Amino acid sequence: MSESASSGVGMSVASAFAGMQSVAPVVFRAGCPECRGRFELAASALRLAIGATSRTTFYSFTCPACGASVRKPAGERVVELLTGGGVRTLRLHTP
Ligand SMILES: [Zn+2]
Repeated sequence: MSESASSGVGMSVASAFAGMQSVAPVVFRAGCPECRGRFELAASALRLAIGATSRTTFYSFTCPACGASVRKPAGERVVELLTGGGVRTLRLHTP
């Protein structure tokens, strides 16, 4: 009984590891100015808003610790990182 259970665990660990190799998890480091916590957030937890200028281009997320809505300016490098990582992008500027 215990023998079959342990072999089942071994199988699931092997398949989980294979899944991690094929789909690399992308995480972004972000800090919360409200509670000063630092987190690693998945791409799905972040949103990017691209405005007409760099001043109106920012990314936002909800702090997992205190629930604050955090908004930070996003420079060109950050925009590249976020879009490349699969973060949802909203274009505020309509030409
Ligand atoms: Zn916070």
